[in-house]
Amino acid sequence: MKKVLILLGPPGAGKGTVGNALADEWELPLISSGDILRENLKKKTEIGNKAKQYIESGELVPDEIVIEMIEQELKKTIYINGFILDGFPRTVNQAKMLDRIVDNSTDLKVIYLKADDDFLVNRLSNRRICEKCGKIYHLINIPPIKEGICDICGGKLMQRVDDREDVVRRRLTVYKEQTAPLIEYYRNQGILSIINGEGNLRDTLSEIKKFTKW
Ligand code: ATP
Ligand code: MG
Repeated sequence: MKKVLILLGPPGAGKGTVGNALADEWELPLISSGDILRENLKKKTEIGNKAKQYIESGELVPDEIVIEMIEQELKKTIYINGFILDGFPRTVNQAKMLDRIVDNSTDLKVIYLKADDDFLVNRLSNRRICEKCGKIYHLINIPPIKEGICDICGGKLMQRVDDREDVVRRRLTVYKEQTAPLIEYYRNQGILSIINGEGNLRDTLSEIKKFTKW
């Protein structure tokens, strides 16, 4: 069966970190809507120019832009055997688009990574990202060996503009209003598992694998 895993959860819950680890282990491609949007921003594409103001203020990019973007992405043949989604769907409209492309031959499962607001604000305001290779650090929990420099590639560590505390608070509010309803949406379909997002990565991964049995 084709495997499709949705990683749902507030900003900073660890969707990207968990998604990358599972993608390696299962040899499934990872689709991060946030990463694709940021890539478009950098290259100043039409999508990037439209999305910029929303991303920088912590709002969601409008559904029609994101849905079209993901639809195009999913046409690539690398996704034929399945994929992991980080950051999509984020609204009920987006979830309905996905429903249209999953059929009986797809094993669709949803992980809700749960964490408290204060924990998330702390994690995001201490987060730094290598501008070259994308590796994620935490100034206190996962600091780089040399301040401001990536251990792996020597790139410069940056803070995302939307990781500033005021924008983080807005992202949390937007999450509660527009994305949290998806928890009920998938719970009702019986395909959702709630996993603690505040623990260490190993425990989180083993909880997820117990649920998916993949
Ligand atoms: P993190 O990745 O740190 O856990 P996050 O989930 O808030 O936090 P991203 O997924 O990288 O961060 O998204 C960053 C921004 O990109 C969002 O605040 C939003 O503006 C935009 N974005 C990403 N995915 C979507 C989506 N599916 N629908 C609408 N906007 C999106
Ligand atoms: Mg992310």
